[in-house]
Amino acid sequence: MDSHRAGQSKRTKAHGSEDPLERLKLLDAEIRRLTHICALLSWDQETYMPCEAVGERSEQLELLSGLIHDRLTSRKLAGLLRDAGVDEANPMGPAGLPPLQRAFLRELYRSHRRSIRLPRRLVTELARQTAIGQARWAEARKAADFRLFSPHLAAILALVRESASCLGWVEHPYDPLLDEYEPWMRSSQVERVFSGLRPRLTDLVRRIVDSPRKPDTSFLKAVFEPAKQRQFSLRMLRALGYDFQRGRLDESAHPFTTTVGRADVRLTTRYNPKAIASGIFGTIHEAGHGLYELGFGEELAGTLLADGASMGIHESQSRLWENLLGRSLPFWRRFFPELQGLFPEALGGIGVEEFYRGINAVEASLIRVEADEVTYNLHILARFELEKRLIAGQLEVEELPAAWNEQYGSLLGVVPPDDAQGVLQDIHWSMGSFGYFPTYALGNLYAAQFYHTLRRDLSGLDEHLLRGEFAPILAWLREKVHRLGRSVPAAELCRQATGAELDPAFLLDYLESKYAGIYGL
Ligand code: ZN
Repeated sequence: MDSHRAGQSKRTKAHGSEDPLERLKLLDAEIRRLTHICALLSWDQETYMPCEAVGERSEQLELLSGLIHDRLTSRKLAGLLRDAGVDEANPMGPAGLPPLQRAFLRELYRSHRRSIRLPRRLVTELARQTAIGQARWAEARKAADFRLFSPHLAAILALVRESASCLGWVEHPYDPLLDEYEPWMRSSQVERVFSGLRPRLTDLVRRIVDSPRKPDTSFLKAVFEPAKQRQFSLRMLRALGYDFQRGRLDESAHPFTTTVGRADVRLTTRYNPKAIASGIFGTIHEAGHGLYELGFGEELAGTLLADGASMGIHESQSRLWENLLGRSLPFWRRFFPELQGLFPEALGGIGVEEFYRGINAVEASLIRVEADEVTYNLHILARFELEKRLIAGQLEVEELPAAWNEQYGSLLGVVPPDDAQGVLQDIHWSMGSFGYFPTYALGNLYAAQFYHTLRRDLSGLDEHLLRGEFAPILAWLREKVHRLGRSVPAAELCRQATGAELDPAFLLDYLESKYAGIYGL
């Protein structure tokens, strides 16, 4: 109540203010509210909306997106930024401003610049082509025939390449695309990190594949009643510290987290009756995203700084909970008896160590979203390589299926039998989302580096897990990562939290040691 009243009085005062910074904050707050309304409409579309409403819903979302775009590109915003002392030479405004205000100006200027550089014609044409492209992609995937999608992908790629040149770049045309998801990072930096990852990772996968010791996974595919899976998901979320007064859990075809406001962060998951792991780890993954969104500092509330530092940092939070904590043995020593209690027929005769090995089974497979934590990054390395070549004009769309299969052959030692299990498996390119894939692998790398530091800073991490005590872990993440939101760029955040630059050695050390135990390497 009190904070609500305080907010009101501040707003009244700022209305009459001539201070450009105060007026920019009001404008940003309005953009945030529109963004949150869009999020609610999209959440509803994925969960409860009747299917025939899809046409009207897309018009509603188009209207709101237009309103946001108008505000971001407005002369009013441009003028206020100028009055606040922000320009090309001073993208964070005058040096004397407090750090949080400089971060606010930096992020607002960044959004504004990206928006004005893309002509409206290009934005609407891309929206139109990707709407068609997604439908054609779905058909092509169903028919396992890339040729049905190829001309549409070529049209989308041409528009994306045009966007990259409008946005501008210095080193590589991929950079401005990557920048949308991983601000301030260049593809040369990603290359450096990935090239440190590749040799040790491919070697580890080879040793695992060659190991005669194979975990049993058959018991994970017994029958698991969805209602009981939901019961276990809710139990997990409460234990992890997810606040149901400020969130909820629903079901959708693809799990996601959406933020409708600082007190409204919603998760979805899915329950496959024949695959228990998909629901459990889907829920824990989204909980990691949700806890991040719920943990932004009070001082950032309602501003564009109440957001993830980057997609990679966001993904680090979901992967840390899902894999590094959620797939660990101490975690399951605590929770497996409860899971067994819910599913005595399927899991009654299974020991916790057998369960642990089962949920950590590694397989060089064809499908990214089903990949384990060891092979996952190889799926990303393949996509990153192909995307860069497409964007640079070094690879034609018709050559893509063959290039895809070649990448999978050399990185994972598997070759897709058809396009559906190969180049057509992901929706991203049909949506024009080039530059997104690397953030998944960056998330895994950041997660391992945070986990290493967490283990160092918090004595007795395993004992906490054995007792199901997550509050000290969450408190560490809140302090080092969550509360900062977008006020600190990802690279700086990583340095501050861990004392080191992003380094693939943390993930490699973690994987090599964990899987040596499971596979007897
Ligand atoms: Zn995620």
